[in-house]
Amino acid sequence: MSNKNLPFTLDEITAIAEKYPTPFHIYDEKGIRENARRLLKAFAWNPGFKEYFAVKACPNPRLMQIVKEEGFGMDCSSLPELLLSEKVGVVGENIMFTSNDTPEDEFIKAVELGAVVNLDDISHIDFLEKCAGLPELVCFRYNPGSLKGGNAIIGHPEDAKYGFTLEQIFEGYKKLKQMGVKRFGLHTMVASNELNPQYFVETAEILFDLVIKIFTELDITFDFVNIGGGIGIPYNPEDEAVDLEFVGEGIRKAYQERLIDKGHPELKLYMECGRMVTGPYGYLVSKVRHVKETYKSYVGLDSCMADLMRPALYGAYHHISVPARLDAPADKLYDVTGSLCENNDKFAIDRKLPVMEPGDLVVIHDAGAHGHAMGFQYNGKLRSAELLLREDHSVELIRRAETVEDYFATLNF
Ligand SMILES: *Cc1c(COP(=O)(O)O)cnc(C)c1O
Repeated sequence: MSNKNLPFTLDEITAIAEKYPTPFHIYDEKGIRENARRLLKAFAWNPGFKEYFAVKACPNPRLMQIVKEEGFGMDCSSLPELLLSEKVGVVGENIMFTSNDTPEDEFIKAVELGAVVNLDDISHIDFLEKCAGLPELVCFRYNPGSLKGGNAIIGHPEDAKYGFTLEQIFEGYKKLKQMGVKRFGLHTMVASNELNPQYFVETAEILFDLVIKIFTELDITFDFVNIGGGIGIPYNPEDEAVDLEFVGEGIRKAYQERLIDKGHPELKLYMECGRMVTGPYGYLVSKVRHVKETYKSYVGLDSCMADLMRPALYGAYHHISVPARLDAPADKLYDVTGSLCENNDKFAIDRKLPVMEPGDLVVIHDAGAHGHAMGFQYNGKLRSAELLLREDHSVELIRRAETVEDYFATLNF
């Protein structure tokens, strides 16, 4: 079970919604910081441990600054993400650049910033050398193929477009060595929204075993192993959060037995989680616009799937709270919808909620990752504002809502 408490009182959120029109996303700074510290503590046994925040989950520089203050680096995969990272002062090897189908200008910027470049394909070795020169440190993304069982969102690794095959990994490192690269990293990313803690221990084991094979066959020692992101969050109150201490301890044991005891020198363990860093600490706050009774009962909000696409895209569950009616019985069956001309624009289908009325504030939980980030303007919907709930409960506007002028800004008419 996971709790679905709100970080603000009814009076607080009512006052916030009076100042900042709904809909908006609001992020809980205290929750983000405490969770970041918990993650770092679980891996404190590894002196070089680093978590690179996957910027795509919530690309707001104010939030990036907060996790930077906690000691995180940034995992970027596009030019704008690299530029955001630079803007918040995260450069050099505090950036992991994990991209695929990468254009030249992105490699050039990544190398210019001194980022750790993680190549997605063996052909990118020559491509990178031509466009930006090979840095002294290079990492490969390994795709374990059928060696690793599938995960619900990412699917089976052998069907995934990412990474090197096992054969290419050996060929690639051999080539890097010949080309004068001095330092090496190994990466994989095979899960998304995975709640089974054992999955991450097994991923680390696969990478550690591979490190030893390469170490033995090619006489290469590794600077780091990056086990990727993918730690899931308990969207459903019945889900259990990933036990970070279990993951940390399991990987510590594997590290000792499979790497150190086999003669490989100490190396740094990296992770690049996005979802679990901001996901549970972001809330989409809306107002009920209309209540409609036809063949079913509908609550129409002033937000829509442009503010949070996951329910429409994946049929994902997002918990919904009605702050003014927390004590009322949740005994009315509703579809909770947005106003997009798409019938899948629904935040919940057949959800038992308290009886609602127009004007009620509605809070959609776990919207802090792939929420605002996945926003779009289809149907002339404008992206909403982002607010930060500070630790002292003051509120900061960290991104204003889009206006009609923004919508027209790119037109040439
Ligand atoms: C999306 C992504 C991540 C982060 O994944 P989460 O599920 O948000 O933890 C990390 N690395 C790469 C390469 C990604 O594409």
